[in-house]
Amino acid sequence: MSICPKCGTTVTKPVKSWPASFAQVKSTEDKPQFFIGLFECPACKTKYRARVWHREQSTQTANVKNEIERIKGVREELMQTLKTLREKIQTLETEKKSLMGEVESLRKAAESRVTTLESEVGQMREEVKSLKELLGNNGKETVPPSQKPSST
Ligand SMILES: [Zn+2]
Repeated sequence: MSICPKCGTTVTKPVKSWPASFAQVKSTEDKPQFFIGLFECPACKTKYRARVWHREQSTQTANVKNEIERIKGVREELMQTLKTLREKIQTLETEKKSLMGEVESLRKAAESRVTTLESEVGQMREEVKSLKELLGNNGKETVPPSQKPSST
């Protein structure tokens, strides 16, 4: 990153960069601390050379910053998702409770209906039985004429 000497615009990346060679650097430093960069200002098109801090380091810093931003974004998204999910779960739980209540009352209604029908059917069976006894064909199967098997 550099600043244009003419207009002061921040130029993020050099067009070209190369390691600075300098004889005065102590031999213990096996890597140069900075690079020389050729910059082109996007605003006024001025081309100039400037020092660039160690490329790898700056790239790494930028990467870390980007990564942090990315993680922040992901985290925010995740929080939003979690919030939405929590709300959904709450809504569904409420709905489930009301549905369970409804199902329970319907089940009870159905059960009482079954009980009523069972007793009604029982009564009707008794009635049929007593009527059959009254008519004297208890136990005999009455087949209507149309139901008789034909021999043709
Ligand atoms: Zn400029």
